Amino acid sequence: MALNKAPAGTGGTLLMLPGDGIGPEVMAVARRAIDWFGARGRFSFEVEEDLVGGASYDAHGAPLTDGTLDKALAADAVLFGAVGGPKWDGLDFSLKPERGLLGLRKEMGLFANLRPASVFPALADASSLKAGLVSGLDIVIVRELTGGVYFGEPRGVEDIGGGERRGVNTLVYTTPEIRRVGRVAFELARKRDGRVCSVDKANVLEATLLWREEMAGLGAEEYPDVALSHMYVDNAAMQLVRDPGQFDVIVTTNMFGDILSDCAAMLTGSLGMLPSASLGAEKDGRTPALYEPVHGSAPDIAGKDLANPLAMVSSVSMMLRYSFGLREDADLLDAAVSGLLSSGLRTADIMQDGKTEVSTGAMADALIGELDRRAARG
Ligand code: NAD
Repeated sequence: MALNKAPAGTGGTLLMLPGDGIGPEVMAVARRAIDWFGARGRFSFEVEEDLVGGASYDAHGAPLTDGTLDKALAADAVLFGAVGGPKWDGLDFSLKPERGLLGLRKEMGLFANLRPASVFPALADASSLKAGLVSGLDIVIVRELTGGVYFGEPRGVEDIGGGERRGVNTLVYTTPEIRRVGRVAFELARKRDGRVCSVDKANVLEATLLWREEMAGLGAEEYPDVALSHMYVDNAAMQLVRDPGQFDVIVTTNMFGDILSDCAAMLTGSLGMLPSASLGAEKDGRTPALYEPVHGSAPDIAGKDLANPLAMVSSVSMMLRYSFGLREDADLLDAAVSGLLSSGLRTADIMQDGKTEVSTGAMADALIGELDRRAARG
């Protein structure tokens, strides 16, 4: 799946939005990795950097300015760090740093959220499950991001008299909403192990019965080469902790995906290791895409050179793979991360007995050294 074209040497446009807290610290590591590839002529991006979140509020009075949004809409890909922090907690909801990210998701039309849950063998002991169950785990959850019960109307809380109230949310999906996220999952499966598991609650919820029917129709019509299965969400939650290795690509609704992806995140043991991608609809040959680590701005460790940069580095790898089709470079970056972990280097969040604790900066230096070594080996 190469969403946009960026043949080596000619490059594409990339907008970096470091944000707040540890965002700029981990983005600096991503920048070093991208510059490493650029310096070797493997590809060259036109990179722009801008403010978002609290940093943008401090400079411009808004968490996302029109100028930054325009740059994001024009870029081939957006790399996002993290936003938020106690400094901005008292702001009106519409000005909070997190609105910057929500605004980007909305305006870029990012309807599919891809969260890989892969476990580097060297980190299998950090999982809350037995190492044997998760070692080498490699699954991706594709979550529908802009529809379903989080956005359906009517919604709200109303007085129904007698001092009582009623809360209402609406689960609604249309055929195009289901099929477009389904296509993302099927296309992804074609590049992986060729299996999609669609998760719903079709036995209880009509909207997800439609989900099941549409996924089945899409699979039969357009992706007969991909093995499609269906699972109820309660069973999927159970199977994720019983035998996660059975899955390849999981595709599901907004709310089920929200819950299942956090569950899958814990299989991997650390927030600091998890990348994600959010994709929009292709238009004029370009697919809007935003890549970010799953973690937040971690104000408790910001500015202390303690942040684990590997989720951000893996987000770069996802970007190379999905937005630009630079598979070999993405593989090299993934292998370098795996090599660092195998050599025993750990930031504090993933520190284990007998391993070597390093700072963010030292991990970055080691990453560049590892890339150099692997490139020299050819
Ligand atoms: P968080 O992810 O920032 O931190 C949770 C815990 O994990 C903290 O103890 C933190 O130190 C640790 N942690 C997170 N990332 C780490 C990393 N890369 N390396 C080492 N340790 C790491 O979540 P939170 O504390 O709930 O939220 C803090 C702020 O981040 C809030 O303002 C929240 O709104 C915001 N947030 C932003 C995003 C985003 O920008 N996408 C996502 C989640 C939370």
